[in-house]
Amino acid sequence: MTNKKPILGRKRILITGGAGFLGSHLSERLLGDGHDVLCVDNFFTGTKDNILHLLDNPHFEHMRHDVTFPLYVEVDEIYNLACPASPIHYQFDPVQTTKTSVHGAINMLGLAKRVKAKIMQASTSEVYGDPAVHPQTEDYCGNVNPIGIRSCYDEGKRCAETLFYDYFRQHNLRIKVARIFNTYGPRMHPNDGRVVSNFIVQALRGEPISVYGDGQQTRSFCYVDDMVEAFVRLMNTPDDFTGPVNVGNPDEFTIRELAEKVIALTGSKSKIVNKPLPSDDPKQRQPDIALARTKLGWSPTIALDQGLPKTVAYFDNLLKKDP
Ligand code: NAD
Ligand code: UDP
Ligand code: UDP
Repeated sequence: MTNKKPILGRKRILITGGAGFLGSHLSERLLGDGHDVLCVDNFFTGTKDNILHLLDNPHFEHMRHDVTFPLYVEVDEIYNLACPASPIHYQFDPVQTTKTSVHGAINMLGLAKRVKAKIMQASTSEVYGDPAVHPQTEDYCGNVNPIGIRSCYDEGKRCAETLFYDYFRQHNLRIKVARIFNTYGPRMHPNDGRVVSNFIVQALRGEPISVYGDGQQTRSFCYVDDMVEAFVRLMNTPDDFTGPVNVGNPDEFTIRELAEKVIALTGSKSKIVNKPLPSDDPKQRQPDIALARTKLGWSPTIALDQGLPKTVAYFDNLLKKDP
């Protein structure tokens, strides 16, 4: 792809986790807006395939680097996305997951402080844990188990938020914190392990659809293009708005409903099978996005029934090339 004509105000933008699912879409968007993008990734869950189409763009640069180590570069803005996001991957090496969120945040905040960059943190609805308040508003402090198998991710992200606010108060950094709710779309890895990609890949292969527990737990699914729009709008809000702000699609579905939708959409003969529910799996999740509507002028535009077919088409194409 080519950039728009160079514009006054071309920015040098660092995206950590830039070769991942969300990071690769964000890279594409920011290049399209006429900026220079530096993608930093250790390729733990991201892949080069996600950014192959950007490599010949002279305004795109990628660097293999682990954010738990210091990074000295000169940039104007930082989107800090580096962190495995799927439970099976973040639980594979939980100590590294906590280090990525905590040491990664310290390093990126130190970098932002040195070069006076604006920095956005990809936080998560997991900071609310298994929520006792529904839908979740930003002032809810959450219900998180500090010692469970999800804690490396949940508490790592909570500590990263703490660091962001302490750098804001102590060093006057320009920060933004996005609490991202379940997001899906093309370029999720087929072995990512999250529910949307698992169900689609299983349905397309004619394998059983693995519903954990009774499938009555709920999630609210946001299409990737809507999420990228929210990131860019958040980064461009006035400096006195830091968030945290919920970003996600408030339409809530049970996991069983999602399985049925995927089967119907793919015309698959796959049957639903129930598997054990992982521990600490949140029972319900739905963002209250009133703050995002007001401060970002944003709300999702792509319903699950529109986003799922695009995602199915992506995986169908991928699996035809590499079954
Ligand atoms: P992803 O796994 O596709 O992307 C994460 C990227 O970070 C990968 O490319 C991975 O290789 C990279 N990475 C991991 N550890 C790293 C390290 N130590 N140093 C450098 N790079 C590292 O996941 P995603 O869905 O694109 O998520 C991106 C961010 O958004 C994550 O921080 C995640 O926690 C957050 N988030 C995503 C969702 C969602 O539903 N997609 C929901 C809430 C929060
Ligand atoms: N850091 C970095 N890049 C920079 C500046 C700092 O990776 O351009 C790291 C540095 O290694 C440090 C961390 O960020 O450990 C925090 O930096 P800060 O200046 O806040 O604290 P200090 O250097 O005093 O520990
Ligand atoms: N899930 C499922 N089958 C799968 C993968 C996930 O039933 O193959 C369930 C999981 O137990 C959870 C929901 O789907 O209740 C969302 O899981 P995901 O890992 O996508 O995200 P998170 O739990 O972090 O919201």
